[in-house]
Amino acid sequence: MLEIRCPVCKKVLSEGPETRTFPFCSQRCKMVDLGRWLDEDYNISEPLEQSPHDEESPPESQSV
Ligand SMILES: [Zn+2]
Repeated sequence: MLEIRCPVCKKVLSEGPETRTFPFCSQRCKMVDLGRWLDEDYNISEPLEQSPHDEESPPESQSV
């Protein structure tokens, strides 16, 4: 028997795909996942031109 876990809270679903909130354990987790997608939309609209270098750390701190 396959164990299906809720992708949000990792709880094992007691019911099968026939449940209304599948693949989530509850309506609440379904909304949480929806919120994550909306958050990603917000992130995409923000500028992604951040420098990978960490300017906060001074080079002097690295003693070779
Ligand atoms: Zn859940």
